[in-house]
Amino acid sequence: MSFNKLEIIEPILAAVQSQGYELPSPIQEQAIPILLSKKDMMASAQTGTGKTAAFAIPILQNITRSNNTLAIKALILTPTRELAMQIKDSFDNYGANLSLKALAIYGGVNQKSQVKNIKKHPDILVATPGRLLDLINQKIIDLNQVQYLVLDEADRMLDMGFIRDVKKIIKLVPEKRQTMLFSATLPKSILNLANSILVNPTRVQITPEETTLESIKQSVFYVKISDKFKLLLHILKNKEYQSVLLFSRTKRFANKITKQLNDHHISAIAIHGNKSQSARTEALYKFKQNQVRVLVATDVASRGIDIDELSLVINYNLPDVPETYIHRIGRTGRANQKGNAITLVCEEETSLLKDIQKHIQMEIPVNKEHPYNIEIKDTKAKNNSNKTQMTQTKKKKKNHHKNTPRNYHSNSKKKTPSNKSKAK
Ligand code: AMP
Repeated sequence: MSFNKLEIIEPILAAVQSQGYELPSPIQEQAIPILLSKKDMMASAQTGTGKTAAFAIPILQNITRSNNTLAIKALILTPTRELAMQIKDSFDNYGANLSLKALAIYGGVNQKSQVKNIKKHPDILVATPGRLLDLINQKIIDLNQVQYLVLDEADRMLDMGFIRDVKKIIKLVPEKRQTMLFSATLPKSILNLANSILVNPTRVQITPEETTLESIKQSVFYVKISDKFKLLLHILKNKEYQSVLLFSRTKRFANKITKQLNDHHISAIAIHGNKSQSARTEALYKFKQNQVRVLVATDVASRGIDIDELSLVINYNLPDVPETYIHRIGRTGRANQKGNAITLVCEEETSLLKDIQKHIQMEIPVNKEHPYNIEIKDTKAKNNSNKTQMTQTKKKKKNHHKNTPRNYHSNSKKKTPSNKSKAK
């Protein structure tokens, strides 16, 4: 199905085309007609599926068609500053030919310029919950004309402890509204929240694991904990890995690895919650511009980061939560690029590896072709068989075809000036 069939108005269609998108992604194909008809929706879909356009396009279109007032008409709640900025950029991109204003507000920076921009009457507000509540309490923001409410990455907002803030905010939005909830996972807490705020929602389900995992070559490298850094240097000798996102469990550790890499003349920069907003933006910008080879991130900071042409994700430490593994490696293998994900596993981490393999329902092939390999007993993952991955991929492909138009992403993520500006 093409975008033309989705009853999108011409100015938005033209903007979408100028982004280089050829076909709607599965979530866009499913969600746009539902949302244009102003129904509530609950979607399980994660970053990378094209979900931002899935809600941004109908919101832009519906606002354009309704009466023009100077109030905030759409509110998008999202967990992190990076996501807030990216979503705001998406509204700017898809709404490039409309006269609507979007604004992002988030904590960690002085509120002054945000307050100044609020006075310019944005139509669409993208916000992290804490800063939004702050500004509401200061009577700087008023939500009583909001007609469209989006909870983006709802599971993450709950994980990050925003549930109370989110509930308080929702109470301040008029009951007569359209509500859209997007979440990568749907645990009970999300379903409860959904039940309390959505009216007769249509459910849309996109299975990102299938979309992402099959385009990513995953491997496990067994290594002694004390040899991990040496192994990292060994891996980075491969010059094909030009753009590497490395995950570290803690902020302190992220700083340490970054320093060690720099000491070995490998350009690296850290991104985590202790960094100021401007430092995070700068780190991301340098990485996207290929001025820095390795971006060392913690899970929270990396959330939703959208980087094209990422050659490798390295899990320096295993995540505690199996879902996080998918979020992490889903940063690579996007936009029709072939992705690579390497996971360094020491003896102490084998049970975490087992949990992950159970979650993704596959054994990750073990790469023993490195100087620091150790034998690990017990875990099934020892089976170094590519066949396992191939079989899994085939099995998953069956489902995958059901909701994936063939050309989604193929050649469609052309670099355009507006795309490039996203990095700024
Ligand atoms: P999202 O899941 O909204 O974070 O989007 C992930 C990436 O996919 C972003 O870089 C979008 O610009 C891109 N994208 C969204 N929709 C499409 C599409 N229909 N075709 C190609 N790329 C897309």
